[in-house]
Amino acid sequence: MKATPAAPTQTTCAYCGVGCGVSMQPQGDGFSASGITNHPANLGRLCVKGSALGETLDLQGRLLQPEIDRRPVSWAQALDAVAERLRAIIAEHGSQAVAFYGSGQLLTEDYYIANKLMKGFIGAGNMDTNSRLCMASAVVGYKRAFGADAVPCRYEDLERADCVVLTGSNTAWAHPVVYQRLAQAKKERPGMRIIVIDPRQTATCDIADMHLALRPGSDAALFCGALQAMAERGRLDGNFLQQHTQGAEDTLRAVQEWTLARTAEFCGLAEAQLRDFYQLIGDSERMVTLYSMGINQSSSGVDKCNAIINLHLAMGQIGREGCGPFSITGQPNAMGGREVGGLANQLACHMGFTPEDISRVGRFWKSDNVTHSAGLNAVDLFRAVEAGQIKAVWIMGTNPLVSLPDADRVRAGLMRCPLVIVSDIMRDTDTTRVAHICLPALGWGEKNGTVTNSERCISRQRGFLPAPGEAKPDWWILSQVAQRLGFTDAFAYRHPAEIFREHAALSGFENHGSRAFDISGLAQLTNAEWDSLQPVQWPVNALHPQGTARLFSDKRFYHPDGRARLIPVTPRLPLNRPDDVYPLVMNTGRVRDQWHTMTRTGKSARLMQHISEPFCQFHPDDAPQIRAGDLLRVSSSHGWLLLRAQPDPLQPRGSVFVPMHWNSQFSQQARVDALIEAHVDPLSGQPESKHMPVSLRRWRAAWQAELFVRGEGIAPPLAQYWSRITQPGVSHFTLADSSRPADWPAWLSEQNATDGCLCQIADLGDDGYSLLAWADGELQLAFYARRSAPSVDRQAVVAAFSVPPQTAAQRLALLAGRAGGDKAPTGAIICSCFSIGEIPIADAVRQGCRSVQQLGDTLKCGTNCGSCIPELKKIIAVQLSTLTAGEAE
Ligand code: SF4
Repeated sequence: MKATPAAPTQTTCAYCGVGCGVSMQPQGDGFSASGITNHPANLGRLCVKGSALGETLDLQGRLLQPEIDRRPVSWAQALDAVAERLRAIIAEHGSQAVAFYGSGQLLTEDYYIANKLMKGFIGAGNMDTNSRLCMASAVVGYKRAFGADAVPCRYEDLERADCVVLTGSNTAWAHPVVYQRLAQAKKERPGMRIIVIDPRQTATCDIADMHLALRPGSDAALFCGALQAMAERGRLDGNFLQQHTQGAEDTLRAVQEWTLARTAEFCGLAEAQLRDFYQLIGDSERMVTLYSMGINQSSSGVDKCNAIINLHLAMGQIGREGCGPFSITGQPNAMGGREVGGLANQLACHMGFTPEDISRVGRFWKSDNVTHSAGLNAVDLFRAVEAGQIKAVWIMGTNPLVSLPDADRVRAGLMRCPLVIVSDIMRDTDTTRVAHICLPALGWGEKNGTVTNSERCISRQRGFLPAPGEAKPDWWILSQVAQRLGFTDAFAYRHPAEIFREHAALSGFENHGSRAFDISGLAQLTNAEWDSLQPVQWPVNALHPQGTARLFSDKRFYHPDGRARLIPVTPRLPLNRPDDVYPLVMNTGRVRDQWHTMTRTGKSARLMQHISEPFCQFHPDDAPQIRAGDLLRVSSSHGWLLLRAQPDPLQPRGSVFVPMHWNSQFSQQARVDALIEAHVDPLSGQPESKHMPVSLRRWRAAWQAELFVRGEGIAPPLAQYWSRITQPGVSHFTLADSSRPADWPAWLSEQNATDGCLCQIADLGDDGYSLLAWADGELQLAFYARRSAPSVDRQAVVAAFSVPPQTAAQRLALLAGRAGGDKAPTGAIICSCFSIGEIPIADAVRQGCRSVQQLGDTLKCGTNCGSCIPELKKIIAVQLSTLTAGEAE
């Protein structure tokens, strides 16, 4: 039974680094989500993922009890085992033999405790986080330029800018609410210019005045070229450079070689395009450059970040409204991890490993065992596990066997590791499968703490659900282990607010303006004040008690001399190059309605309807023999995947796109990171996840099928290809195999799916086979096999499990995979908010709707979160061009 509070709970979204405020309102047996109108991140908006948060709260698949070697144990047994085994490994091999690997899913309070335990008391630096995969390059870029990991901007700056440059970011899909704010600002001020820099033509290009489809990985050269062009045009801010920066002379000398011609050649762009780009940014008094994984996930990601920051510093485009370089994070609390020291090369609260910082943190924590050196970053950490140097690793709230590059090698290493501890909310993930000890953590909606979004805004994540089973907060689990390791006094916390106060106090301890991260103004909050804390941007201290919207307005930076640094960079292309064997370059990224490794978004049937299967997008000319709907083997030097083929003329030639989300619980062979080589940036340790040479080959299936079985969580059947599509009350799989079973009923019976059922069969011989299995008048199973992907009205089939067809004609239609009666098929869902499919949208265009507004008036699509608007425009364009072509004939 859920205890449902009467009033809505104000919390922060579980997903991306936009950090939207969400109000969770009790509704029936569950909750509905709506945007908080006065939250500065979203001002009432939510994207489709945020809107569907209420659909992800069920306990199916949850880890609800501690387990050792997959057997349930009590908390006391589990905590004793963790502490005893860690102590034994440290005693035998030293503290460097243990490591923690955290996550941007952890709350700041959880993160703080993990970091304090590892770096302050165990005495090793090996505390890293999956944020290493997301924004480590941005962190180093800021530190080099500003002397601190300090994001200058706020979201409002995007709305106030004359020109917004989006580079390495499909904002429309990855950070939809930021995109919506930008789209609205552009509507209100059409003079505002938006430039998208991306090898792909993504949904974000929908609002762009200019799209520069540059060569993958050539971004640094583009920004060096822009700096040179601004110098030639006299657009640099000489006073600012002279009074507030260092390094301008060397940097400007270094970019002289990036002439228009050389930049155009290196980036694969026309000179005229570049001239137009330079003109636009040169004409802009206020410019924001928003950048994300397309910049950071590179073997030269830090230099790319500094090339962007150099341009802003040189033009004086920083510290003012509507100006600045602005990196946006992937995770809800990636920034919180950076604050506490969650990265292995940080100590705590933006302090490093200088003797002064080590002494300061040691005195504050009252520990003489603070580590004196940085630990291993994510890729090196798991290599050390493989090499046997690290003998115990505690993984918290993340799924590295799906998200780390060279993921199969990581798995092999972990399988040999003497002690793998995993704290998670889900029982069966790729990572829990290799764990010795699993600890059930509280999930979003249950836990209680703070997170910091991409604009330095600290918000509360509040619990509104009771703790399920025996799940506990991460800070509690870590504190209990710390106490068992003998650190009782330092970890005697009873409430997360105590941890927050300590963290806030450390941020201000002997700070005196020397460290950007300072929230000492919050160190005295009572528990009640912490509980009701309103969103606030750091620094929050005696000088800025209400927080700080924008940094560097005073033109003072955090290097000891107060000046920012321009950094000369040498643009480099990605390390791996395509060759005869692997001639195409694979780019990876997000799709609109999924997030990370799908452990939460994969629970929502609605979110699965937009894109239901892992796919590979490629230009038709790169693989003319492969058609839409085929299955595709995508291979790199590290492994291979089986994916649905998606030829797309908008995909640049020579490059393919594969989403990063699918894990082994949702598809058999789709973990994209198993294909990626672990090349990292030498300064940030961030892997080059967006540039891997691959080859494509059609995978010939003897049959393809769709299988629907009553009940959720049914195991996938035996087939060489399967992919799971979440549906309400039904397990739904797409299937394929290279050999055809001799006997379909026997094959289905082997899956234990039709026993005791009355079966209705359509045997089409070599062309296919369909079967409906009924028990007590209720549909138990529906199966459709064909030589190629069967055409099935999925919504109609799923509906038949709750409302069985009444007439013989309707049952026959169902056997053919169609709805009986008048209900027309909808096709792929485009508008997830109102479940409006591609077919009715296309019909509406053919019947006269000529704009998104008219489609919204007619079908409601696009009228809630707006995430589908770029796709609606695309359907309108395609339909109108078909109509025009028809008229011309
Ligand atoms: Fe959540 Fe990000 Fe969507 Fe906002 S934009 S609702 S934070 S997923």
